[in-house]
Order: sequence, then structure tokens, then C-alpha cells
Amino acid sequence: YVDVLFQNAKKIGVDIKLNTKVVELITNTEANEVLGVKAESKGKPLYVRATKGVVIATGGFCGDVNMIDKFILDFRGALTFASANSEGQGLKMAEKIGAASTHMNFAAVYGYGVPMSKDKNNRKGWIFRGHVMNLYGPITVGPDGKRFVNDDLGATSISQAMSHLGFKKVFQVATEAQLLDFMKNDPIQVIGWDQNTFKKELEEQKVFVVKADTIAELAKKMGLPADQLEATVKRYNQFVKNGKDEDFGRKYMKGTFEKGPFYGFIGQPIAGISLGGLKVNKDLQVLDVYDQPIKHLYAAGEAIGGIHGGSYIGGNSVGSSLTLGMVAGKKAAASK
Ligand SMILES: Cc1cc2nc3c(=O)[nH]c(=O)nc-3n(C[C@H](O)[C@H](O)[C@H](O)COP(=O)(O)OP(=O)(O)OC[C@H]3O[C@@H](n4cnc5c(N)ncnc54)[C@H](O)[C@@H]3O)c2cc1C
Repeated sequence: YVDVLFQNAKKIGVDIKLNTKVVELITNTEANEVLGVKAESKGKPLYVRATKGVVIATGGFCGDVNMIDKFILDFRGALTFASANSEGQGLKMAEKIGAASTHMNFAAVYGYGVPMSKDKNNRKGWIFRGHVMNLYGPITVGPDGKRFVNDDLGATSISQAMSHLGFKKVFQVATEAQLLDFMKNDPIQVIGWDQNTFKKELEEQKVFVVKADTIAELAKKMGLPADQLEATVKRYNQFVKNGKDEDFGRKYMKGTFEKGPFYGFIGQPIAGISLGGLKVNKDLQVLDVYDQPIKHLYAAGEAIGGIHGGSYIGGNSVGSSLTLGMVAGKKAAASK
């Protein structure tokens, strides 16, 4: 969609400046009004006078792990899958001139994150689509080796359950048949990896996968209490045979865990889409701390807060960014 928008913007004469970073909003503070921006391009300052308005569309802040730790209190220390450019620059610039923010403590946090590096200071990670894998029958347990949630839940619901229970990690157990079914029917296992990279990880088990012939051995490799994981699996197998999950009522019970090899997947919370940001009114005007619009300042996309409430529904971010970007642009163009 970027290609389509880019080509059309060029066609209608939009002056697009690449490698140009906005660093400051220029204001007439007395009138609570934005006059334009200061940017930097190749080390040189560039001033742009905005006669109609400035639309902040600089994205979210989850690429800055300090912002995650400062605001997303339930997930301090989480990995991030956001772009390094998503560091809330527009939000910070607008706050400097008195803009208000909202919903800052919420983000889309997936439960099955995988670190990109063994270096603890590098918090970049990938999303393992463990929530999709579970639809082929695998189970999810906590650090105590017990199931704690309906395994069929989406990845952001799993992370919510983790945060309530104080779990820093989750562990999935799959039979080989379940895993092969997942890989056959779904082309993407880890977002950012092709299937060959995932197959290599299944063989080498260097990043987040472990493999064992028995449940007890698998538990040991994942650092879980073996007795408990065996008990969990035994109870769950009975549910599968009876066709009813008496503990969590899951729907996708596909196969028992009786014959190895078994695969284990270690996941941790990974944040990527901030749900908090600038406070705006229905015209996408940025509000100040007194809920008054800051004249000629608009915002759209992930830079604004409150669109999703406290919980992200997958897919709603691109849609709202595109739609509200258009609305903000139209409102700014019509402003006097
Ligand atoms: C891996 C991943 C998967 C996702 N999957 C989905 C999905 O399936 N469905 C969905 O709806 N959403 C998804 N999202 C979220 C969605 O992509 C974003 O919320 C959405 O793209 C935000 O759009 P935006 O235009 O507000 O910001 P962005 O697309 O982040 O664009 C902001 C732009 O502003 C630039 N910028 C930042 N600061 C400055 C500055 N100071 N000066 C100039 N430019 C600046 C950035 O470089 C960037 O180009 C995903 C996000 C990630 C990271």
C-alpha cells in the first residue's frame, strides 16, 4: 500500500523529502498555534512553513525500549518487534509544546516472542506465531508446567494472562504431527523468517526450539518441572480422548501427546504497536492538557492514542492509520 500511495502522491505533485527528519514543531506560543516544522536533512537544517497545518504521522513508540519500560508497566522488559524508527518522535515533539497524551500504558504485546540476540541489552525480537500453531493442537503451559489459559486464544490475550500471573515466559508443547500440520497449512511460522529458516531452527535448536523423545526430557530442556509437565499432559490427553477440555474449554484439541518426538517452544512477551499516543478530537486536532485543540496541529496513525482502547485487535492499526491519515489531511487542508 505504501507503493500505491507513494506513486499517487507523486502524481498529484506532493513534494516528498526522503532522509529528512523533523526535529521540532515551530509555534506561536501566545496563540497556541503551530506555524511549521524544523527538519534536518543531510546534517543541514530545513524549515517548512505550514500555512494550513502540520499532521503528525510519525508512528508509535514501541521501537524505543525505554518508552516500553516507562509506560507499558505490565510488560516492562518486553522484547520489541517495532521498527527502530518507531520511537515516538512526533509525540515527544508535540508534548514539548503542551500536547496531551492518552492510553500510554497500552500496547499490542504478543505472548510468543523470540529474542533476536543472546545479548540481554538487545531487546529486538521476532513474533513466533505460536497462537496459530496452537490451532493445530499444541498446548501452552507456564513456568510451573501447568496450563493456565485456553490455548486457542490469540497472542495478545495470552500475554494479558501472562502479565496477570507474573509469567515472564511461556512454553508450548507440540507433537511432530501437529507441527507438520501447522507448517503444511501455514506458510509463516516466525514473522520475518522464511520456512527454511524455521526448519533449520527445528534441526539445530539454537534460538527457541527444543526437541525430545519424552515429555520428561522435554521439560528438562525447557527448564520446567518434569513431574508437573507429565501430569499436565496426562490430564490433557484424557480430555482429548473424552472430546472435552474440562479446565479451559478449548476447541482445537487435535491429538494426544503420547508418542515422541515432542517439540517445545519458549516464548516471551514482545511489544510492537503502541495503543497510546497523542490525544486528539474527532477532527484529529491534537489537544493540549486543557483539552483545547492546538491550532494547526493534527495527528493520525499510531502516533495517536485511544483508537483501540486498551486491547489491540489484529489488523486494525493499518486500517485506522490509512483512514485517519486521510481525514487528518482533509481537515488540515480545510483549516483557516
Ligand atoms: C512487524 C509488524 C507487523 C504488523 N502487522 C500489522 C498487521 O498485520 N495489521 C495491522 O493493522 N497493523 C500491523 N502492524 C502495525 C502497523 O504496521 C502500524 O501501526 C502502522 O503502520 C502505523 O502507521 P503509521 O503511518 O501511523 O506509522 P508508520 O507506518 O510507523 O510510519 C511512520 C513514519 O514516520 C517516520 N518518522 C518517524 N519519526 C520521524 C521524524 N521525526 N521525521 C520524519 N519522519 C519520521 C518513520 O520513519 C516512518 O516512515 C504491524 C507492525 C509491525 C512492526
